Amino acid sequence: MSYSVSPIGFMRSCFKEKFAIPRQPQLAPAARGVLELVAPYDRAEAVEGLEQVSHVWLLFLFHQALEETPRLKVRPPRLGGNASLGVFATRATHRPNGIGQSVVKLERVEPGRLWLSGIDLLDGTPVLDIKPYVPYVDSLAQAQNRIADAPPRAIAVEWDAAALGAARREAERLGEPLVELIEQCLAQDPRPAYQNPLPERRYGTRLWDLDVRWHYPTPERIRVLEVAPPASG
Ligand code: SAM
Repeated sequence: MSYSVSPIGFMRSCFKEKFAIPRQPQLAPAARGVLELVAPYDRAEAVEGLEQVSHVWLLFLFHQALEETPRLKVRPPRLGGNASLGVFATRATHRPNGIGQSVVKLERVEPGRLWLSGIDLLDGTPVLDIKPYVPYVDSLAQAQNRIADAPPRAIAVEWDAAALGAARREAERLGEPLVELIEQCLAQDPRPAYQNPLPERRYGTRLWDLDVRWHYPTPERIRVLEVAPPASG
């Protein structure tokens, strides 16, 4: 038996590549985007009352990780990429039906558009549903997860002076908290856990319309080297 679902909207997100997106929502409060609803959900009736809600659940498709062959075991980055676990014990992107879920902050709502922050969704992500976060049922003080019992350890992030200057100028142009976004995302240490980065190795990703490049002067520190519009040609 099969069922079909269709997106109620698409995410316009600061994250233009998968690399360096935080592994869960809320880890980068400066990560922002707009959920653009499609017809018929782009009408005022569909979001009436939502202005009374501070956070929403998004159910979405990991559209850039969909696979034909089911995986029963996955290697979560959190366990260093070496140990494997049953897919249902993890929040891995490779999973049955490719469905993701994130609690994000609702900054503003208008017919057809939700402004969100603290997101972990790639630009263009198809969103299947939105549900209001309900603290008295969704927040369980006694809940435990012995696989992921605390936020990932943050790594120090420092800046080249020119890169920081560029980030501040671009933040002004975009009207976005770009310096905070870069610091919050890189503090999650996006490199694969098994990799011991050599200082000469450069890493990069795209946030908004900017290429951000960094390296590891030591394995415990990130230094931002460049924040610039993509080189043309
Ligand atoms: N909070 C969600 C959950 O628990 O279902 C997502 C967790 S998943 C581990 C987070 C990662 O999904 C991000 O680091 C990003 O690389 C990846 N991701 C986000 N949007 C995606 C998309 N549309 N397709 C594929 N991967 C995506």
